[in-house]
Amino acid sequence: MSDKYDVIVIGSGPAGYVAAIRAAQLGLKTACIEKWRDDKGNGVNGGTCLNVGCIPSKALLDSSHKYHDAKHAFEGHGIGTGDISIDVPSMIERKNRVVKQMSGGITGLFKANKVDSLYGTGKLLANHKVELTDNDGNKKVLDADNVILASGSIPVNIPPAPVDGEVIVDSTGALEFTEVPERLGVIGAGVIGLELGSVWSRLGSKVVCLEALDSFLAIMDQTIAKEAKKILTKQGLDIRLSCRVTGSEVVENNGKKEVIVTYTDQDGKEAKETFDKLIVCVGRRPYTDGLLADDSGVKLDERGSIYVNDLCSTSAPGVWAIGDVVRGPMLAHKGSEEGVMVAERIAGEKTVMNYDIIPNVIYTHPEIASVGKTEEQLKADGESYNVGTFPFLAIGRAVAADEAEGMVKMIADEKTDRVLGCHIVGPAAADLVQQVAIAMEFGSTAEDIGLTVFGHPTFSEAVKEAALAVHGHAIHMPNRKKR
Ligand SMILES: Cc1cc2nc3c(=O)[nH]c(=O)nc-3n(C[C@H](O)[C@H](O)[C@H](O)COP(=O)(O)OP(=O)(O)OC[C@H]3O[C@@H](n4cnc5c(N)ncnc54)[C@H](O)[C@@H]3O)c2cc1C
Repeated sequence: MSDKYDVIVIGSGPAGYVAAIRAAQLGLKTACIEKWRDDKGNGVNGGTCLNVGCIPSKALLDSSHKYHDAKHAFEGHGIGTGDISIDVPSMIERKNRVVKQMSGGITGLFKANKVDSLYGTGKLLANHKVELTDNDGNKKVLDADNVILASGSIPVNIPPAPVDGEVIVDSTGALEFTEVPERLGVIGAGVIGLELGSVWSRLGSKVVCLEALDSFLAIMDQTIAKEAKKILTKQGLDIRLSCRVTGSEVVENNGKKEVIVTYTDQDGKEAKETFDKLIVCVGRRPYTDGLLADDSGVKLDERGSIYVNDLCSTSAPGVWAIGDVVRGPMLAHKGSEEGVMVAERIAGEKTVMNYDIIPNVIYTHPEIASVGKTEEQLKADGESYNVGTFPFLAIGRAVAADEAEGMVKMIADEKTDRVLGCHIVGPAAADLVQQVAIAMEFGSTAEDIGLTVFGHPTFSEAVKEAALAVHGHAIHMPNRKKR
């Protein structure tokens, strides 16, 4: 194997592995360096997303949803189940098999595309050289015309609740509980906190989410966020806003460890709550530890992200950076698209990425999903727009499936009618919002979506009806006065 490459990618998460595959598809000699190891010390590809993020969390969300349905929903469909039990270690074992299958899939794709998969730690040196330290500590220097940094992110820790990996855990630890905690605290009611809180709540934990902000899902459209909060609260998640955690103490009670959390409540008073487990989910930070030699020429911004321009070029010529380690939403698909753009740019193509249309999903049940601008953003920007909303309660498929909670909210430009945003809480919201994302990519108007024939009965009819409602033309509900 020659040590000179067209492209070296550091990090094999969804940003890095996609960049490596696309670069190799374009005929570039490509290597991808990854330092992640499994519990046996073997190198594994896939990064946060496949190992401790998107995929394992969805595996547990699906398992816990099936359990919850069997226990609470089947009876309503006339299905008797007898006693339902949970075997948490089996559930975790299944999740681990899913992870192994998916990360093994990346390794297989690397082979099929002739990407050299190198296990070890990569460090960017000057003049796009890369030092590789393999898992036995041997070092060698590789040369490349282009280096793509895709080192991802790690969970943020907060001093009042230091993670001990046993009672106080981060999102990774929350995917490994061996039994259902009776009382579970979650610090942070954001995307990851709500998903992990939902998993354990469905399995029987009494979950309290302590959120420092005074609004729920502050970056989402607030009509949808309010509706989602109502639904999740009804499911048993105790979401407390304006609650700032100030301290925590792990104590022993009857031979069992528990944690007493101190926080300032919404009235500014000190409050305490005791939990069997506490998950700290206050966000993630870009990860660059040990990645950059002093003379690499790559600059960081004030938030510790690698500084890049719109095309993901860093301040060092021939060095690019993508995914969670650069600005923008920390989402797997955002990093993957950046990976494609950068690989194609290196190959001489003129690819650009549309940062305005990146769907965002929270995999609670029902799902919460959005694309484009929120009504709050448009108001702040002084834009004129029309809004159409439509409830799943008026969708036959949703009622038949007993999934009639939530709504679709469509926002279109007042003058041009172009769709500016779509926000959904409801069944299959992740897939429905993607339909609108495609429409938006093609510059669709609300009228275009309203004129499209949708299959019946489908959840997606709520998207069509919301688009019709933008002009007061919804069929299956009385229309509000056009705004
Ligand atoms: C619980 C959870 C659930 C999530 N759910 C979703 C979801 O549903 N949808 C979604 O879009 N996003 C989700 N995310 C976020 C998503 O996982 C990240 O946005 C995504 O993984 C970022 O991809 P990345 O390739 O930039 O970085 P990462 O996936 O973090 O990968 C970076 C890789 O680089 C490696 N690395 C770092 N430094 C070096 C080095 N010096 N040498 C060699 N290798 C190195 C790391 O070991 C790692 O494997 C979730 C995250 C969590 C924690």
